[in-house]
Amino acid sequence: MTEIRVLDHGFVRLDGSMADDLSVVNAARVSFGRYKEEMEESDVGLIRFLMREKHGTPFEHNSMRFHVKAPIFVTREWQRHRVASYNEFSMRYAKLENPDFYMPDEFRQPTEGSKPGQYQYEKWRGNQQRTKEMLKNHYQDSIDIYNWAVENNMAREQARLALPVAIYTEFYFTVNARSLMNFLSLRNEPQAQFEIREYARTLEEIWAGLMPITHETFVNNNRTAP
Ligand SMILES: Cc1cc2nc3c(=O)[nH]c(=O)nc-3n(C[C@H](O)[C@H](O)[C@H](O)COP(=O)(O)OP(=O)(O)OC[C@H]3O[C@@H](n4cnc5c(N)ncnc54)[C@H](O)[C@@H]3O)c2cc1C
Repeated sequence: MTEIRVLDHGFVRLDGSMADDLSVVNAARVSFGRYKEEMEESDVGLIRFLMREKHGTPFEHNSMRFHVKAPIFVTREWQRHRVASYNEFSMRYAKLENPDFYMPDEFRQPTEGSKPGQYQYEKWRGNQQRTKEMLKNHYQDSIDIYNWAVENNMAREQARLALPVAIYTEFYFTVNARSLMNFLSLRNEPQAQFEIREYARTLEEIWAGLMPITHETFVNNNRTAP
């Protein structure tokens, strides 16, 4: 699958999958020694039942492997989700070549009166353009220090100390539908930070294409993971 662009330099790409609605049905029906080759109307009802009653394990017999490029501050939030497998680009073993840094389209501020955990945002009233210029200079300084340190034989694991959390990294994320639903319930919802939400929205679109009935049932079940 081709990369789907996210933010200014990021992407999500489905690298491989073993995921369909039928796997949910067959995992549940094995309890009765039954197996199906194709989905039938009654199977839609079964998926709804499993979701509603929180019979979560039949949603685990599938797997999606995503290749992701995201800023480190997004990756840090993302990798708090433990029920998944991760491998990430190593700044110990490899030198960064032409790194990208995240620059938001616009800066935001919490609207007056909004509280932690229920933040709402509006456009930041500071000088947007000037701040972008300052940040751009800061990014350039950070990469200059990094390159200078590496060229002077400092270990890459220390040279990276100069780099900000806005720098992009790449990783593989392998997850099953049950855990992905938990991820989406937390990260593709209004309280999640805008930047990770953009990635979660993209993951959800890809997953909906692979398991459309499970996805629809999740949405209709108040986006609650079983
Ligand atoms: C809006 C938002 C704000 C956040 N703010 C903060 C913050 O300020 N500080 C902070 O530290 N984190 C914060 N987090 C991260 C949050 O606490 C979780 O670490 C993260 O969302 C992963 O969720 P999870 O544990 O459900 O996912 P996973 O780690 O993928 O776990 C999936 C499910 O498996 C089960 N599970 C996994 N591990 C265990 C375990 N050890 N014991 C029992 N059950 C387990 C649970 O049912 C869990 O829901 C925030 C998350 C969100 C969405």
